[in-house]
Amino acid sequence: MSFEIPQRVGFIGLGNMGSGMTRNLQRAGFALIVNDIRRESAAELIAGGAEWAETPAEVAAQSDVVITMLPTPRHVETVLSGPTGLLAGIADGGTWVDMSTSVPDVANRVRAENAARGLHILDAPVSGMSVGASNGMLQIFVGGDAADLERLRPIFEAMGDPEKILHVGAAGTGYAVKLMINQLWFSHLVATAEVLSIGVKAGVDLGVLRNSLIASPANSNFVQNDILSILDNGDYDEGFAIALACKDLGLSIDLARSVGVPAELSSLVEQIYRRARAQYGDRAGEMTPVKLYEDLIGVELRLETVTA
Ligand code: NAD
Repeated sequence: MSFEIPQRVGFIGLGNMGSGMTRNLQRAGFALIVNDIRRESAAELIAGGAEWAETPAEVAAQSDVVITMLPTPRHVETVLSGPTGLLAGIADGGTWVDMSTSVPDVANRVRAENAARGLHILDAPVSGMSVGASNGMLQIFVGGDAADLERLRPIFEAMGDPEKILHVGAAGTGYAVKLMINQLWFSHLVATAEVLSIGVKAGVDLGVLRNSLIASPANSNFVQNDILSILDNGDYDEGFAIALACKDLGLSIDLARSVGVPAELSSLVEQIYRRARAQYGDRAGEMTPVKLYEDLIGVELRLETVTA
């Protein structure tokens, strides 16, 4: 199969994720047309040759493909709609890729309302945190037409690990996969925080407890790797705000509701996340629920400071 690789990439949403992703697209040689409500977020890209567009419609009109990387479905809806919105500027037959963590409703409505326009729409949310966005090693979960993914593969490869750019099914499945990944990861986080807190309070050395968990059937990638961000460095990952983590958990429970599956455990995890958000603020890191437990037991879970 051969086709022309889109060269002009529009990108809307230059936050924690979008800033790293666009830097990598620029490095890979794509011409960028960018927009954000915070113009200052584009300064470095513009210095590197990117064009600024005043509205999403202008981004779409000047690009071969438009990518959105926005906080919530509501923000995506805003960027799409109205006379200055993406849909007003995109050509018939044009391509829109939503890489936000979101739900299928918005894109489904766009498809239904624009059926005659022949738009190509992919959902392609990502994992890998802001560090993965910066170093171009994101995992990308693509829902939609597989031929569209192949046409856009060089663009995805500029932002993600080529081995981890996965076609996961029809439109909407990328969003679903991403929400389930986050749901399980947040559940691991809460379960691990609870277990470590109980064990430490029961007098077990934190390092010994963690090593024992690792050597047992209860081991997980979270216990082995991800929790170290806190245990070694006291880093709760402010690169992903807890407000957005709560958004993801809410969307995940909405999805469970829409497919008729009870989400009892997920709902409890969501409540614990909401408590942490209320206590530490919207901008606190996604791993801040661990701090709830630390505050409760009066001990910071740090490998070098906690002793038996
Ligand atoms: P962010 O809040 O840091 O960035 C969002 C950007 O969108 C901001 O620059 C904001 O100004 C811009 N924006 C908002 N409304 C806009 C509008 N109407 N027009 C133009 N720009 C607008 O968020 P983020 O951390 O970059 O996350 C983006 C998406 O990626 C979210 O859906 C999030 O859940 C998902 N995600 C984040 C991470 C992470 O570690 N941060 C990891 C994986 C997925």
